[in-house]
Amino acid sequence: MTEEKEQRYDPATIEAKWHERWSADPAMYAAEPASSRKPKYYVLEMLPYPSGALHMGHVRNYSIGDALARHMWMRGYNVLHPMGWDAFGLPAENAALKNNTPPREWTLSNIAAMKRQMQRLGLSYDWATEVTTCLPDYYRWNQWFFLRMYEKGLVYRKKSKVNWCPECCTVLANEQVIDGRCWRHEDTQVELRDLEQWFFRITAYAQELLDALDKLDGWPEKVRTMQRNWIGRSEGTEVDFFLYEDVNEASEVRGQGLEKAGSAPEPAFKGERIRVFTTRVDTIFGATSVQLAPEHPLVKKLKASDAALDAQVAKLIEEQKRAREAGDVGGIEKHGVPTGHFAVNPYNGEHVPIWVANYVLMDYGTGAIMSVPAHDERDFEFAKKYGIPIKRVIAPAGLKAEEPELPFTTEDGVLVNSGEYNGLSCADAQKKLQSVAARNAFGEAKVIFRLKDWGVSRQRYWGTPIPMIYCERDGLVQVPDDQLPVVLPANVEITQQGGSPLGRVPEFVNVTCPKCGGPARRETDTMDTFVDSSWYFYRYTDAKNDRQPFDPARVAYWFPIDQYIGGVEHAILHLIYSRFWTRVMRDLGLVTHNEPADRMFTQGMVIKDGAKMSKSKGNIVSPDDMVAQYGADATRMYALFAAPPDRDLDWQEDGVAGVSRFLGRVWRLTTKYAARAKEGRGQAVAHPTGVSLKLLRKLHQTTAKITLDFEGRWHFNTCVAAIMELVNEIQAADAQLAAGEAPAPVIAELLQTLVLLLAPFAPFLAAELWEELGGDASVLRASWPKSDPALAKEDEIEIPVQINGKLVAVIRVAAGTDAQALEAAALAEERVRARVAEKTVVKVIVVPGKLVNLVVK
Ligand SMILES: [Zn+2]
Ligand SMILES: [Zn+2]
Repeated sequence: MTEEKEQRYDPATIEAKWHERWSADPAMYAAEPASSRKPKYYVLEMLPYPSGALHMGHVRNYSIGDALARHMWMRGYNVLHPMGWDAFGLPAENAALKNNTPPREWTLSNIAAMKRQMQRLGLSYDWATEVTTCLPDYYRWNQWFFLRMYEKGLVYRKKSKVNWCPECCTVLANEQVIDGRCWRHEDTQVELRDLEQWFFRITAYAQELLDALDKLDGWPEKVRTMQRNWIGRSEGTEVDFFLYEDVNEASEVRGQGLEKAGSAPEPAFKGERIRVFTTRVDTIFGATSVQLAPEHPLVKKLKASDAALDAQVAKLIEEQKRAREAGDVGGIEKHGVPTGHFAVNPYNGEHVPIWVANYVLMDYGTGAIMSVPAHDERDFEFAKKYGIPIKRVIAPAGLKAEEPELPFTTEDGVLVNSGEYNGLSCADAQKKLQSVAARNAFGEAKVIFRLKDWGVSRQRYWGTPIPMIYCERDGLVQVPDDQLPVVLPANVEITQQGGSPLGRVPEFVNVTCPKCGGPARRETDTMDTFVDSSWYFYRYTDAKNDRQPFDPARVAYWFPIDQYIGGVEHAILHLIYSRFWTRVMRDLGLVTHNEPADRMFTQGMVIKDGAKMSKSKGNIVSPDDMVAQYGADATRMYALFAAPPDRDLDWQEDGVAGVSRFLGRVWRLTTKYAARAKEGRGQAVAHPTGVSLKLLRKLHQTTAKITLDFEGRWHFNTCVAAIMELVNEIQAADAQLAAGEAPAPVIAELLQTLVLLLAPFAPFLAAELWEELGGDASVLRASWPKSDPALAKEDEIEIPVQINGKLVAVIRVAAGTDAQALEAAALAEERVRARVAEKTVVKVIVVPGKLVNLVVK
């Protein structure tokens, strides 16, 4: 043995060898057709934006999905494990500006680079189903869906206030505005602009999207909560206040520092109604003013004849705009202006002044509220400031003498100062007042949502062209299906001027009207890229289909997705849009299910030195560097080992090195005994004893643990730790194994199972060692090991012994030892004896199989 070469684990060589073999077998990870007799399993990781390089967050996300996919293959499932590219979007245009590279070229070369990285990591994707959203064979179906939705009234166009990022030169969805700033440009204030926009009517599904959350129990509770809040359902009542005109009274109110313009009110206001939305109609007798949003249509009429009011309102509009741009309308300093006009409370005929207030939003509810200062903090603050009367109309239930200080809010009370409704409970009063309003046609029960329709127009180049045409004669005309796709022209000059770059391409803009044959113009806006990601996972099932978005039969087989894995930052954007899109497809008759994914898992972030990895912080760890130094197996396994998958992971290079050393030990151990293992291959292990029993027991315990984790707990960090423990135990018995104390079939079972357990986490090394042990087919097609519960059962267990609740010793006893014997064993333990020597044992608590606790004095 003197000439024996130093045994060294060399991931670079091993991984290169398997990379080459796997590349030569592209069908290796292909799913079987629906006729397969295996049960199906669709595991999906969120598709990346092709920025040009994977980051550690990607590596973590994909390592989780890949381990799961490999495990399911080994469990005998027909697995669909696809990957694609969310390839439209702004960075391609920015890159074009910066480097003078066309977006398409830039994007496709980034995709090629990232695909190489994924393949180098050994991720088990079926590239035959790859989806690239910026290619016409995909986005034509965005256009097709747009047209179907238009025909169903789910797409419409309207002028609206939009969030405009001056840096992106485009519209942002509300979801893309974070604290008044662009989600891509943290330093850029978002502005509000009025633009004609295309919208998807997601609000038509608001109630359904909300209700179904209760049934999504395979989704994280935090994601469901975020979606509930985003949808924001409020139950309440709409009530009409009637417009009342009395110039004298009006002048009186306006005495407070406001000049009357002099002209008499326009008769046009007579008979007008102000519809308010309130969640507390039971407090309506306490309403002492009505407040309008500065952009309420009635305000427009009122100020038309009132220059002073006009100027005041202009100020309020400006304040509100600034607060919205800062993303904090709730925190606005509340200002208002009395209009000098009055409204009549329909329940009691009381005249209350009409104000315009900067904190009332036109796009929430009806753009008008009633103000009840006694029972609402905000109204109270406003009333105090402007000397508006405060009238208590609720008495809390259960209170005898003392009244709480105003304002107070409670639903557990009875009405007072409310005429014929006095004495009713809040809940009863709400019902009663609603029915009175409905009967008298001045209001109704109403549910409103915070969720707004999805604005999908973008004034950008690198997106799906919207398939609509404007004809002077026919108005809006759909692009006929046989003219799809509307292809995004190449060689478009990207500038940062406003307006869509497509508008500057006459060959694109000028078309023949499909209806009348006359000259017409194409829509030049493109679609929000969230359209692309709303249904990409359906396309994976039928990625080459050029007649329809997918074959419904294939989708029926594969859906819902069994496990979706991605970042929690997509909880309210992508994950709500996808749920909406699935329902639209259901209503188009394409699918029969309601939800795209049965189970959702959101992995934690990868951080370094306590902060999210980012270029600006200079704490980025490149996956390429890690792979080059330690190998793909060690990098992936570390990403799973360093933290539970749902928690943040603090990247430590020492840790990767440690995992690499561990894999080296596995490699040495396995190669050392490979010949013995081959000898014992396929032979039954009968009645193991001694070291064989000890090691097999550990093996079966480890198998049971990891199998259970894959079934839903996903504590992959402890799975890897369990494999490490197993290897430690085998190594500790090295002398006995070397001396031949364990028969060859035991060695075979030990090493083969070890390799199988490792396969989902370190696929390259597992493939290498599987071959080394004489495995006949690919380890991917080998069966996942089964744990024998009889063998896994410990015959000696460890029992902690506590004194007054504090751990002092651990005793080893036979499994199944009874309480009396446990107590005796605990009291006989040296450290326990020393501590109770001078004291009295008052009580002994024994939980057989678990613990002994002594209470001493
Ligand atoms: Zn921006
Ligand atoms: Zn026409």
